[in-house]
Amino acid sequence: MSEARRTIILKVDCEKPERKKIELAADVIRRGGLVAFPTETVYGLGANALNSEAVRNIYLAKMRPMDNPIIVHVARREDVYRLAIEVPEEAEKLMRYFWPGPLTLILKASEIVPRITTGGLDTVAIRMPRHKVALALIEASGTPIAAPSANLAGRPSPTMAEHVIQDLYGRIDVILDAGPTNIGVESTVIDLTFNPPQILRPGGVTYEELKSVLGKVRVHPAAVSKSEVHIEKARSPGLKYRHYAPKAETIVVEGEFDAIVKKVMELARKHIGEGKRVGILATDESLREYGLGVVKSMGSRSDLSSIAKNLFKLLREFDDEGVDIIIAEGLPQDGLGLAVMNRLRKAAGYNIIEAK
Ligand code: AMP
Ligand code: MG
Repeated sequence: MSEARRTIILKVDCEKPERKKIELAADVIRRGGLVAFPTETVYGLGANALNSEAVRNIYLAKMRPMDNPIIVHVARREDVYRLAIEVPEEAEKLMRYFWPGPLTLILKASEIVPRITTGGLDTVAIRMPRHKVALALIEASGTPIAAPSANLAGRPSPTMAEHVIQDLYGRIDVILDAGPTNIGVESTVIDLTFNPPQILRPGGVTYEELKSVLGKVRVHPAAVSKSEVHIEKARSPGLKYRHYAPKAETIVVEGEFDAIVKKVMELARKHIGEGKRVGILATDESLREYGLGVVKSMGSRSDLSSIAKNLFKLLREFDDEGVDIIIAEGLPQDGLGLAVMNRLRKAAGYNIIEAK
């Protein structure tokens, strides 16, 4: 357990972050404290990435397994050359195209990066977020900031300060609240120590975008799998842990749209018949089809970015409403759909039903 802390919550303007508030939070970072802050993907829980003791406290506050490495956030490109010993041409290309933005690069770590930050690996994950508050905080702190998502390990990632408060109030020093995040799923993690580069986690930058810039790119089988994949010695240890999980049992129904709706209905009836409180994670196109259960729409199937934005919030809402079981519609896996389906399948512990 980490010791109890007095948590200060500061509302910050997401376009023009107030200097005083940023300075206060930056001071906490410099002293080795913990600050939750918004990025364009989800809220992060930050500490000085180069201070082992500070980073250790991130793991303790989140109850995160110590071998699950943490992404290092930078505000300037120069820092990449201090944190990594090798920066291949593809990495430079990706930085030019996608930074600041939701793309994390895995590179060979330099000796200034504590091994606790890399979860004991000899690689480091680096990204430059596209959010004024995040960039201002990193800049003012004068150090790269290690930050995993600001939730208790295993829970859905926080897309609003309220989610951070639910999970971490009293366990961290500061929460910077700049409203809901824009993208709603985490960054894409791409490993550049491999040739061709390999996507370890799909996220805010899509496979299609990466392919158009790099030509060749692979997706790690675990990132698109419909079942638990045992990967070689923890390439991306995060892949092996239970993730994003609501408290309720969760099922994902995959297949053609009409078949999905039919199957969701059938399952909902069955579970309601057994006396359970059922939540249905629907889409705008199907919302009115279900006349039973607690039905919430993730957004329109023709706008996967709206779905990405809503997903984690809705999973938490079902928990707050005491739903026993969540039945979720599967989605197409193009564009942001790949990241959304990766999160949904994990949230469901790979409890997937094929609708025919
Ligand atoms: P989080 O920020 O909590 O959403 O998770 C960060 C993700 O990046 C996890 O899946 C980590 O396993 C992954 N990651 C961080 N550092 C590395 C690294 N050096 N090598 C491979 N994966 C990493
Ligand atoms: Mg996380």
